[in-house]
Amino acid sequence: MRHFPIFLDLRGQRVAVAGGGETAVAKLRLLLKTEAKIIVLAADACAQIRRWHDEGRLVWHARAFAHEDAIHARLVYAATANARDDAHVKALADAAGALVNVVDDLEASSYITPAIVDRDPVTVAIGTEGAAPVLARRIKAENEARLPSTLGTLAALARDRRPDVEALPPGRARRTFWTDYFDDWGPKTLTAGGEPAVAAVFAEKLAIARIDAASPRPGKVVLVGAGPGDPELLTLKARRCLHEADVVVHDRLVAPEILELARREAVIVEVGKTPGGSAWRQGDINALVVEHARAGAVVARLKAGDPLVFGRADEEIEALDAAGVACEIIPGVTSAAAAAASVGRSLTRRQRNQAITLMTAHDVAGFAEHDWRHLARPGAVAAVYMGVRAARFLQGRLLLHGAPASRPVTIVENASRAHERRFTTTLAALPNAIAAAQISGPAVIFLGLEPRASAQRDIERARRLGWA
Ligand code: SAH
Repeated sequence: MRHFPIFLDLRGQRVAVAGGGETAVAKLRLLLKTEAKIIVLAADACAQIRRWHDEGRLVWHARAFAHEDAIHARLVYAATANARDDAHVKALADAAGALVNVVDDLEASSYITPAIVDRDPVTVAIGTEGAAPVLARRIKAENEARLPSTLGTLAALARDRRPDVEALPPGRARRTFWTDYFDDWGPKTLTAGGEPAVAAVFAEKLAIARIDAASPRPGKVVLVGAGPGDPELLTLKARRCLHEADVVVHDRLVAPEILELARREAVIVEVGKTPGGSAWRQGDINALVVEHARAGAVVARLKAGDPLVFGRADEEIEALDAAGVACEIIPGVTSAAAAAASVGRSLTRRQRNQAITLMTAHDVAGFAEHDWRHLARPGAVAAVYMGVRAARFLQGRLLLHGAPASRPVTIVENASRAHERRFTTTLAALPNAIAAAQISGPAVIFLGLEPRASAQRDIERARRLGWA
């Protein structure tokens, strides 16, 4: 990040704008939203600037930008639409030590003006360091659409009422009160009855919140499916839970982009278990979540994929039950589902397989035994979790029970993530294919499933280009 975003207090401060044409007007429109003293320096000025001058909203001096203008200015805009004049303004500003923005010249500028979404007093500032103005405009449009126009009014009311709400204990009580205000009854009441209605309901809601706060709610643990990695594959419920959680306890496989969705004040604990090694014992994880919940926290226990698929969820649920701690479960997209989507194939198909086996190649005792004869039958499809290191074992067992060496095998590593890779092979070549691919991320191995033709072409192209 080369440009550090800050919000500058311009109340009563001087801002000097060099230029009297359209370029200057565009910046002035933004500056006029502030409480700055705006001085326009230009030998000639367009009608709009003259009008603003007459209305007393800015002061226009009909002369060129000079040294003393820079000395007294907090910010300087070089907006003359003439490169030589702009360079002169910049030189004067630099000499006076003022911050200067040369319009449309990132390199010459000591600061840049972001695109903004204005819901005063709420301002969303968007910057791309000049890399992608189109993107900035899109993000602005999305935020314009997403943030209701009532937001500014609600925020201004909230600012006035802050001291009253301080009667609530800090933490959850206050947070819930404000969340409900902004997301629920605030906008509804404002639309229905305007500001007076909000004021009345505010007092009522605050009284109720004070009573609630006096008898605090007990904590709870929510087992949350974090999905395969792509944050867009999170459920809305999972998102909401992450926003609310006081403590987030997550597995190693949960993607960092998803953890970003937690509140900034939330305590985040990784209880990673690397394949083979184990940093945290299950008993310690159970004890940790119980302890936080007993202290009144909402604990989001984030697990990759779906929490109930190879997630040892029962052990945690039983521990919570035994401790008398409330527990909820939010399902997630399991990796096999994401991997199947990536190769464009249905997990079940009439006449081929009416059932799908979700299996792991490991259990506590080592390699896991299965009904191999069943899995070796023609048309059988299985999604193997944690199978990369067991490839030779899987191959041996299946061949021994009569599966053909030509049975297709598809491997999806990092399904739905930026580094997703897909491979196709056969049962005969499985161990070699896995060794050659040097898989280091989580992967699902589909036994008996080949990718859709178009996905197959992508995979081959990637292989030729050396991506996979
Ligand atoms: N509860 C998880 C599975 C946890 S076991 C779920 O429902 O997906 C861990 C295994 O999940 C990994 O060894 C791997 O087989 C699989 N896995 C997790 N994330 C994955 C991803 N993004 N792509 C492919 N496989 C993944």
